[in-house]
Amino acid sequence: MRPICTAKLLLADLSFQLMNSSCLRLLASILAVWLAVSPCLEARVQPTYGFDIFSQDEEIQLGKQNAAEVMQQLPVLPDFDPVVQYVQRLGAKLTQHAPGYHWPYNFHVVNVKEINAFALPGGPIFVNLGTIQAADNEAQLAGVMAHEISHVVQRHGTRGASKQMAAQLPLAILGGILGNSTLAKAAELGISFGVGSYFLKNSRQSESEADLLGTDIMYDTGYEPRQMAVFFEKLEKQMGAGANSLINQFISDHPNPGNRADAVSKEVQTLTKRTYLADSDEFRDAKARVAGMKPLTSAEVAATQKQGGAPGAGAPSGADVKPSASLKVFSHGEYDISYPENWQVFGDQSSNVTIAPKSGVSQNAVAYGVMIANYQPEESGESLDVATHELLGSLRQSNPDMKQIGHDETIRVNGVSGKSVDLIGSSPIKDAQGKPIEERDWVVTMPRADGTVLYLVFISPDRDFAGMRPAFEAMLRTLKVK
Ligand SMILES: [Zn+2]
Repeated sequence: MRPICTAKLLLADLSFQLMNSSCLRLLASILAVWLAVSPCLEARVQPTYGFDIFSQDEEIQLGKQNAAEVMQQLPVLPDFDPVVQYVQRLGAKLTQHAPGYHWPYNFHVVNVKEINAFALPGGPIFVNLGTIQAADNEAQLAGVMAHEISHVVQRHGTRGASKQMAAQLPLAILGGILGNSTLAKAAELGISFGVGSYFLKNSRQSESEADLLGTDIMYDTGYEPRQMAVFFEKLEKQMGAGANSLINQFISDHPNPGNRADAVSKEVQTLTKRTYLADSDEFRDAKARVAGMKPLTSAEVAATQKQGGAPGAGAPSGADVKPSASLKVFSHGEYDISYPENWQVFGDQSSNVTIAPKSGVSQNAVAYGVMIANYQPEESGESLDVATHELLGSLRQSNPDMKQIGHDETIRVNGVSGKSVDLIGSSPIKDAQGKPIEERDWVVTMPRADGTVLYLVFISPDRDFAGMRPAFEAMLRTLKVK
């Protein structure tokens, strides 16, 4: 159970009322002593509310629309990437302690080298991979995230946009759109929260509000709040020391409100001393992973956008998974196969091939798609049946929790007899508790003239397999073994 913590403002009001009544004076002093020793009733900074013409629902919708655009424009890593899953778990811990309205927070990692993070109205939060690479400890990463969560809590984006709209619109029209067509009017006025948007830049006032709320969120989650300020200051120092182009954007979007570290320290002093969390194993694991990753620079992302191509390594999580109905031919030395034209071929003539949606593949793990490879049976002249069972044995060696479901069947593909086997295993996609969800693997083996076996493993989370199967079958129908 979480402790009940009252607001600083509420607390002041309460004691004022009590002190006004002389007969309650004694009670008030008892209460004051009790408050001083009770960590549960410590005051927290409360969100402020300002002029905002967007309703909460509109704000959420606005954030969703802009998040979809961001995912088109930036190389956002897929949700099943272990680093993304770690950031999402850390985000979920922090938002449990976010005050105010419960926005539908969601966290994403952008495969970009620059140190940056930004929050869209209503909950979407994007953290660049470079930020994780640069964080010296988990509290620093948590600090950046708590700061971004606080911008969402405070509705800084839509409050800024509201001010702008109020300045642009005659009062009569502004009054008329309240609760009516705010989103349409905002679009008409060119108000957008997408990549590089003016409304992602925060004022110094917004910054100090986000620092204070962020301090409490970090403290309540168990992270040392001063690490947030330490991280910001580290970046500023680096910038002063040589205008590092990797941190410009972050500093310009989150300007120092002045004495950031002092303000955080003062807020911490109002809270009971506590021990803070050490770096988790998950954080260390994520650090090791990101150390080996090569995120794009913003310039590289901009270049791919100009060429009209999807950005590298990430693409919208899930958006390209749905296979397109129109097919494209892939010609390999050993076979021809057609595949959905919005999917991609990974690998080449000399290697095993994976055909998959870009966001279905991460760190060599395939969540959606098909792997195609050649299997050399242990002895020459083996039947396809025996060779298939050998192959399944070797697949299980690298994926020990794979289990066959049902019997293997004989199928005909373009007049050639092959074998078909369904397996259940673990997907690289994890559920909310961090456990892998079930994966369905449909293995098809086909004989080749040289005595080897061509095999295809069609992969999908079990929950989506029925939806993916028609596309897999359409691909299989085009297979011509050479
Ligand atoms: Zn900020």
